[in-house]
Amino acid sequence: MEKRNKTRVILFPLPLQGCINPMLQLAKILFSRGFSITIIHTLFNAPKSSDHPLFTFLQIPDGLSESQTQSRDVLLQLTLLNNNCENPLRECLTKLIKGSGTEEGGEISCLIDDSGWVFTQSVADSFNLPRFVLCAYKFTFFLRHLLVPQLRREGFLPFPDSEAEDSVPTFQPLRKKDLARIMGNKDQAEPLDDYLFKILETTKPASGLIVMSCEELDRDSLSESHKVFTFPIYPIGPPHIHDVPASSSSLFEPDQSCIPWLNTRETRSVIYVSLGSIVTITESQFLEIACGLRQTNLSFLWVVRPGSVQGRDWIESLPSGFMDGKGKIVKWAPQLDVLAHRATGGFLTHNGWNSTLESICEGVPMISLPFVWDQLLNARFVSDVWRIGIHLEGRIERREIERAVTRLMVEPEGEEIRERVNVLRDEVRRSVQRGGSSSRYLDELVDRITSF
Ligand code: UDP
Repeated sequence: MEKRNKTRVILFPLPLQGCINPMLQLAKILFSRGFSITIIHTLFNAPKSSDHPLFTFLQIPDGLSESQTQSRDVLLQLTLLNNNCENPLRECLTKLIKGSGTEEGGEISCLIDDSGWVFTQSVADSFNLPRFVLCAYKFTFFLRHLLVPQLRREGFLPFPDSEAEDSVPTFQPLRKKDLARIMGNKDQAEPLDDYLFKILETTKPASGLIVMSCEELDRDSLSESHKVFTFPIYPIGPPHIHDVPASSSSLFEPDQSCIPWLNTRETRSVIYVSLGSIVTITESQFLEIACGLRQTNLSFLWVVRPGSVQGRDWIESLPSGFMDGKGKIVKWAPQLDVLAHRATGGFLTHNGWNSTLESICEGVPMISLPFVWDQLLNARFVSDVWRIGIHLEGRIERREIERAVTRLMVEPEGEEIRERVNVLRDEVRRSVQRGGSSSRYLDELVDRITSF
């Protein structure tokens, strides 16, 4: 560990699990390079400060009502948070900057926040503070999703059913049916396009973009980035595989009994199932997944978040005796440890970018069941480009699930997929090692922050 250089970096994550994890991991990386760390966060989905005793945590009010925190409409939540948090952030920064330069406060060098915060550039400018934007998406998605308003204006929707499987030349390798889901229904069009426009406008003047991906996964889109952005881009690789001490940033308590349970299973015999922190499913979809898993006769470890089955508290609709010694269902898993466990042989996933990266980094082949947003693109890369998984094409039916799991876990096709994911794992892991592309970008980022 290097000596603290008294330079303080302020990080302001968007309060979603998929954004908190990479941001706190980035904080750990910067801390290991000698920076002091302050995390400003909302009351909503506040990270557990006790898990990170070496950072300073400052909470700001976010103005969300109880029912707004429970909403399943993430776009609405993000819009409200952006409307409510500007003044609280400004006040918090004012206090911090007053204390800066002291022995305790350190010199504040920059603000790092998510692309989804759309008021922070003007706040940072008013304090003369350089701002870096963190991109927690695959870079292809980040670059292309900013084109959605333009595609809508140009009349992309509607298209005839016969074209649903056609690819979208400007959003490769998405199919038209995927892009239609990303663009949302008529009611969502205006708020979404408005939000995306603001993201573009508030990202362009930033000092740089820190991307949670690497050249090995995002070469094409990175080489095109100069067409949109003139600032430096730092694809520093999957943040959790950098050489820093690991600790949890989970908003929910991971059920540690997963690991002793996995210890009792054969190598690569268990299919791990998780749809991340936001996706919800209907009760009939839940039962189709359950029956599909059961019919494989293989072991499964399944994360079912309380409230993620619509209209139900948890798993009470499962028939009694369902598990029959084959499966284990938990409310939240220590996912990194589960994926790294020798018993885990496959991952049925919604393809959130963190989950996708984590699976690649452990060489675990996937079954893709994307629901919304960037998950649809990540899933296409998994199945069509890297060929490290099987796409369910949205068919949440017991036979389809049984078939996909069996193909991946038992049949020779699964072995070929596993070989490919292992090759990709090695490339991505090499990128963060000394001399690798991600490691070099990280050094450049550290030099840049130090230079302010
Ligand atoms: N995660 C976890 N335990 C679980 C399920 C998910 O720790 O039971 C973590 C996972 O490792 C990942 C994050 O939650 O880092 C989910 O992020 P992702 O981008 O995959 O999906 P999102 O939740 O944003 O849809």
